[in-house]
Amino acid sequence: MNMTNNLNNKTVNIGSATVGGDKIIIMAGPCTVEDRDQIVDISKFVKEQGAAVIRGGAFKQRTSPHTFRGLGEEGIKYLDGIRRAIGLPVVSEITNPQMVEKYYDMLDCFQVGAKNMQNIDLLVEIGKTNKPVLLKNGHASTYEEFINAAGYIQKEGNNNVILCYRGIRTFETMTRYTFDVSAVPILKRETGLPVIADPSHSAGDSSLVKTLSDAAIIAGADGLLIEVHNKPEAALCDGEQSLNFEEFQLLMESARNTAKAVGRFL
Ligand code: PEP
Ligand code: MN
Repeated sequence: MNMTNNLNNKTVNIGSATVGGDKIIIMAGPCTVEDRDQIVDISKFVKEQGAAVIRGGAFKQRTSPHTFRGLGEEGIKYLDGIRRAIGLPVVSEITNPQMVEKYYDMLDCFQVGAKNMQNIDLLVEIGKTNKPVLLKNGHASTYEEFINAAGYIQKEGNNNVILCYRGIRTFETMTRYTFDVSAVPILKRETGLPVIADPSHSAGDSSLVKTLSDAAIIAGADGLLIEVHNKPEAALCDGEQSLNFEEFQLLMESARNTAKAVGRFL
């Protein structure tokens, strides 16, 4: 029996993965593709554990100009290699309208990051295609602003939009952002689009990711975006919130039980 998913009226296919059905879709991988061996190792492991989509960043919109900004096109090429070699769809962030055509054939899903939620030209250009898009909420955006950003993509004809809730900036300092669990049912109710949760960026702390994942599933999330690294302590970006292999395995076990408790599976 499906108890939580009755708010969706839309599913979005990313290659072989259907987001918005009874199966909870796990998208996992490193914040940033660092080299070929790293992304291959991590992708193989998360696939073995049941992830349905590989996620890795190549064009990183870092807050500080003095930090690693990703491998750029080289990273996208590694991801393109992964989808062929291990047979899972890949998602990665693109940051300007020119990248839509350029990377169209190399990615199964475009990610629009929090800092670009209101990059209207990018949203419109993606809207002119039928490529699935994972749209993340802005750091300080309201639900309505988030829904309107999705609307820019949909208005052009692309309804393959997945909303990704990644927390918002509040006065709290003990987490990186605040994970407002009510975002999940509200966004689903208001849009009918699949909604996935990103507990990694919300928490900014690997020790909280499993618990927030369970909470998101109970709230009706259609999937999770989880940052995983083979050596989180050496990660070039977002290491504090990245799960090591053992922690990811534990998260998957827990998420499987939680999904079952709400009439879903992963
Ligand atoms: C990311 O997904 O690695 C990322 C940078 O997230 P956000 O755009 O939500 O900050
Ligand atoms: Mn990240």
